[in-house]
Amino acid sequence: MNKHWEYLIIGTGPAGLGAAFEILSRDKNSKILMLDREKFSTGGLRNDCKMNFTYPVGFPQEYWEREQATHYLNRVENMLKPPIKAKQNLDVYQNRCASLNVELLDIRQAHLGTDGGLELIKELTAQLQEMGVTIELGREVLEVTENSLRLEEEELTFDKLIIAPGRKGFRFLQSAMKNLDIPFIDNIVDVGIRVETEEQHYPIVRDYYDPKFHFQEKVRTFCTNSGCAHVVREKYTCRHGNPYYSVNGHAYSKKEPNGLVNFAMLKTVRLTEPLASGQDFAEMLGQQAALLGGGKPIMQRVGDFRLGRRSKAHSFTGDLYSFKPTLACTPGDISLVMPAKILRAIWKSMKELDTIIPGILHPSTIMYYPEIKLYANKPQFADDHFRVKENVWMIGDGAGTSRGITAAWASGIRAVEGMF
Ligand SMILES: Cc1cc2nc3c(=O)[nH]c(=O)nc-3n(C[C@H](O)[C@H](O)[C@H](O)COP(=O)(O)OP(=O)(O)OC[C@H]3O[C@@H](n4cnc5c(N)ncnc54)[C@H](O)[C@@H]3O)c2cc1C
Repeated sequence: MNKHWEYLIIGTGPAGLGAAFEILSRDKNSKILMLDREKFSTGGLRNDCKMNFTYPVGFPQEYWEREQATHYLNRVENMLKPPIKAKQNLDVYQNRCASLNVELLDIRQAHLGTDGGLELIKELTAQLQEMGVTIELGREVLEVTENSLRLEEEELTFDKLIIAPGRKGFRFLQSAMKNLDIPFIDNIVDVGIRVETEEQHYPIVRDYYDPKFHFQEKVRTFCTNSGCAHVVREKYTCRHGNPYYSVNGHAYSKKEPNGLVNFAMLKTVRLTEPLASGQDFAEMLGQQAALLGGGKPIMQRVGDFRLGRRSKAHSFTGDLYSFKPTLACTPGDISLVMPAKILRAIWKSMKELDTIIPGILHPSTIMYYPEIKLYANKPQFADDHFRVKENVWMIGDGAGTSRGITAAWASGIRAVEGMF
């Protein structure tokens, strides 16, 4: 086993993959090792795999101009060639939005589904391996220094290192930044709920797979799933070792439809002095939800929420409740655990959404809490290509250069451009 590599890439998500393909397109003889702590490849492409090809979706605007992002998006699309989904009746929905000061973005979108995403991953990793890239899974990087990596019982050195550990590698990235003495800000977090309802109550998904509504007060819809759609939970561990869950959603494109839709309603929270850590804030909210949910996320029916009462097990039976939650959670009262300012902004946006697409506030609709997005771990970059040290680059959702698959891939390309 080589101990020294020309290129080391931590993370086999879209950011790492984009970087690996770009290196090879510039020098096909490059010696590249990709490491991932998971036993399967490859990061967030596994989940639903919706790809958005319109700025600004997925692109933090502090790092990406429209023209620049569009240039990279064209390159990502040429590489991945996903089938783009048609949209219908956009003007009808946009007209309804106008009177409410809500924006419905017109996004070029593809949807492979969780099953289609897996096929893509296999294809991409096989291509990389054929081109000579070594991919090692189930290999967690424990520590990073300026010229070496520490894994369990092993140390590797590199000429160039790309760190792309995604959102779940948030804490690892923070420890790497501390080790490398890179200043960073972590003051933004998205907090909200995941909504699950029957497709008949949110029929826009037949016209537009993942409709992106932007409301006032920095609330937006995010990551809509339909077809065979499921709500899932992701486990996170706090700095002190306590676990908490954030909900999320995905869909299979090739399985029998289950008639359900889910999407997130998220509010972006930007923290200022004296509390500057979005991660700390998110952990506190996550643990509070876990405390009241007996270790699980909380779910509440809209019907109960409107009446100001908690949901109980029997809230999920009866003729108005014709579908079962796809994620088993604790029936409860999200207004007991969600900060009032966030809840108010999200509920107001839900009411506006119900005016645009009547039905979403049907009593059977479920609101799951918490959905938390940690991505704004913003390192101080030394150049325009996400370099943080002479030979180290940090990219993808973990480093805050992206918030989605296509932008993560674009970050990988942009970083490598700065190396040649
Ligand atoms: C359930 C779910 C559904 C989603 N659906 C969509 C969608 O439909 N469309 C969309 O655009 N985005 C979606 N996203 C977001 C998308 O997955 C991310 O934006 C994208 O994957 C970010 O890419 P990345 O390469 O930065 O990180 P990731 O894809 O998260 O990859 C990072 C990789 O690094 C590895 N890693 C972390 N720490 C270490 C370490 N210390 N050592 C070794 N390896 C490490 C991780 O195991 C992981 O495989 C979804 C996310 C989730 C969780």
